[in-house]
Amino acid sequence: MNIIDNVVFIPICCACDRVRDDQQTSERPSGNAREQWVWLESYLHLYRIPQDAYRLTHTYCPRCMKHLGINQKKPEQRETLQEEIRQRIISVIGSAIECDLDTLVSRCDDFSWGQIFLEMDNMSRIGVISLTRSAEGRYCLGLPRLVRSDEAQILGG
Ligand SMILES: [Zn+2]
Repeated sequence: MNIIDNVVFIPICCACDRVRDDQQTSERPSGNAREQWVWLESYLHLYRIPQDAYRLTHTYCPRCMKHLGINQKKPEQRETLQEEIRQRIISVIGSAIECDLDTLVSRCDDFSWGQIFLEMDNMSRIGVISLTRSAEGRYCLGLPRLVRSDEAQILGG
């Protein structure tokens, strides 16, 4: 669960309107880590998230991705591209003193904004990079300090 300024960022599928439950996904035994996608209402209810305390970020769930034919063919090519974007993001963040989203996008100009954003979201979810929001409302990217497990569950309840 991405929490920035007490606002929960919930990835929602553009096609079926289900949201990704990172909490349940990460509690699954590893090796069987299938993402859990649930209805927004049940998600908000389950984690007692107030109506004004969340934002939706748009993505596709694996089922719809498959259904729509995204990511279906040429998995090797796609993985290579993904890896390339990841390496680039890490090197840009690592070499900048302060890196916001605009800086990142402008230094990765051979990739599209969508590609970068999607990969950035993936990376912040698995903890490869950290995403924070500055006082001016800019998203700042960094390489994460080690996060204690009890800090990662602010809203876990
Ligand atoms: Zn979907």
